[in-house]
Amino acid sequence: MNRLICSRTGETYPLDDLRWCSQNGGLLDLEFAASFDPEQIKYRPKTMWRYREAIPIRSDTEVISFDEGFTPLQRVRLGKKSLLVKLDFLFPTGSFKDRGASVLITQVKSLGIKKVVQDSSGNAGCAVACYCARAGIECEIFVPDKTSPGKLAQIAMYGASLSKVRGSREDTAAAAFAAAKNHFYASHVWNPFFFQGTKTFAYEICEQLEWQAPDTVVLPAGNGTLLLGTYIGFKDLLLAGIIRQMPKLVVVQAAHCAPLHQAFTQGLSTLAEIKPQATLAEGIAIARPLRGEQMLATIAESGGQVITVEEEEIRKALTEVSRQGFYVEPTTGAVVAGARNYLEQEAQEDELVVSVFTGHGLKSSEKMTKLCSLKH
Ligand SMILES: *Cc1c(COP(=O)(O)O)cnc(C)c1O
Repeated sequence: MNRLICSRTGETYPLDDLRWCSQNGGLLDLEFAASFDPEQIKYRPKTMWRYREAIPIRSDTEVISFDEGFTPLQRVRLGKKSLLVKLDFLFPTGSFKDRGASVLITQVKSLGIKKVVQDSSGNAGCAVACYCARAGIECEIFVPDKTSPGKLAQIAMYGASLSKVRGSREDTAAAAFAAAKNHFYASHVWNPFFFQGTKTFAYEICEQLEWQAPDTVVLPAGNGTLLLGTYIGFKDLLLAGIIRQMPKLVVVQAAHCAPLHQAFTQGLSTLAEIKPQATLAEGIAIARPLRGEQMLATIAESGGQVITVEEEEIRKALTEVSRQGFYVEPTTGAVVAGARNYLEQEAQEDELVVSVFTGHGLKSSEKMTKLCSLKH
């Protein structure tokens, strides 16, 4: 039952196959029976690796880790309401992407791979570069040339070679895809091991709520690594009999780049073509997410929805949480704005809503500088 499976044809491969896509170029998913022993887990170090038996890495493998994860789950006020927020900006590289990179690079190292290529609009590149540095693996990161300078510096300082690509995010992906002919593609979108790391987000929420699922989780979605990981995590907990219901997954996109919103409200199962505009939320500015169909299916299955937020709402939300001492990046401002709207307009009085701060504000110093000078 533990295997890689092509999402197009159902063709299967062993977990330790040296591949990041199927024979015919399809996306791979990963099937794995996760197991949990809450009694044992409770005495382990507070890191995402405390769920060792639920992560599909052989037990004799060296884990590439900084003891990351098990981030705080704190109550945060938004307007007149409040909700619980997972502080996932407190990771070694400053974003939740470390969850995925830790598992993916552990797998890559165990396969004996010496060099990887990857593409990112910033934070996934930082995470992969960081864990490659820890593992002693060479890496080349392709980024759009408009990526925040702070993120570029971070990637370069980890020792990765940086290839800036002119044009759209899709042009960057195409450049990495071409390089992947010669080197292993450690893609956070293609490689299903990445999602086996982001799923620990759901495990931690559940354990922090005394092994219960919240009613609703409000998440950002660009490429869907957090959304799909969260779905897999709760699904694992359901199948293991630990929780009884999948939480409602409420997904936030910037109105300036909202391919899921358009498709979801029209009841489509495939993505609509959109014309994206620039947005402060650079981390979710993905006009054509590769796993878009999976994302739509996941949201629908959970009884969730897609909401969009305007640039002005993102700015206001960012200020609101900054004034409470949370310095998060503009992309996270979009999630906060969405969560705020959801609480005000949709949530029931007793609904247990969890959201997430995805990235650290120190990543986006130039944007932040502009944002506060606007006000003087
Ligand atoms: C990557 C990222 C997101 C969006 O996550 P996806 O996996 O692309 O959906 C949101 N916020 C931050 C800070 C990110 O780095």
